[in-house]
Amino acid sequence: MFKVNLHLLEGCNFHCRTCFAHFDSRRTLSVMEWKHIIDNLYKSGKVNAINFAGGEPMLYAHLGELIKYVYSLNMKVSIITNGSLMTNKWLSKYAQYIDMIGFSIDSFDKNNSIKMGRCSCKNQVFGRDEFLNIYPELLKHNIKIKINTVVNRFNYQEQFSKQLEGLKIDRWKVLKMKAFDNGKFNNRDLEISMEEFNDFVKANPYINRIVEDSMVNSYFVVDANGNLLDNSPNSYGSVGSLLEEDFDSVFNRFNFDEDLYNSRYVKVNKQKVA
Ligand code: SF4
Repeated sequence: MFKVNLHLLEGCNFHCRTCFAHFDSRRTLSVMEWKHIIDNLYKSGKVNAINFAGGEPMLYAHLGELIKYVYSLNMKVSIITNGSLMTNKWLSKYAQYIDMIGFSIDSFDKNNSIKMGRCSCKNQVFGRDEFLNIYPELLKHNIKIKINTVVNRFNYQEQFSKQLEGLKIDRWKVLKMKAFDNGKFNNRDLEISMEEFNDFVKANPYINRIVEDSMVNSYFVVDANGNLLDNSPNSYGSVGSLLEEDFDSVFNRFNFDEDLYNSRYVKVNKQKVA
């Protein structure tokens, strides 16, 4: 059974220079269209978990309704968010339906976050204090907590392990930043070498840390238009629309690496102590 990532919208209140969410689409779907896609995935019998992503999924006005809908179909619900719009009030309403929340946190240092563009236009960041503000509510509802960190020129010397000490984080995923240069957008100056990345990994041991190497064709991405995307290197072309075709037909054309998908999840289970 698979987990599918629904990128509800491209918009985000942050403007991270490391961001890969550039799928060349400007619109998002209505709540009925997303429910149609969720039904499509559910009826395939191949999908048992939905992850809401973006852009920033908390900006999607009907996120709460979709969370409850997925839950009503007995599928697991997770969200990947920059955390800045998540409040205790919101959690008290929806946390009961959510299995896991992933927070993308690339720095606990405010200045560093701002240098990376990991902030709102008013320089609001989501760092340790902001995380600790909602942490008790996450624990209260037994939500699994994941943190994703993209390692780049501005944070590769930061001490994350110390900041995470004593916190119950179910999975901390660290990834080496992928550089982009498409003419309009260039973040090559933030790139680090493999040696620098390995230094970061060595300097930051943490129980439940995993190092992500490849997600190529082992990751289901549905863009803000409802298309399943092929995530081969430099691609992100559409394999087909989940509004127009059933999941099985689109999946049959997808050059999906099931062994790699399974090995990623086995690795998550085995890589408990890094
Ligand atoms: S918070 Fe996430 S979606 Fe928003 S700009 Fe940063 S990486 Fe992209």
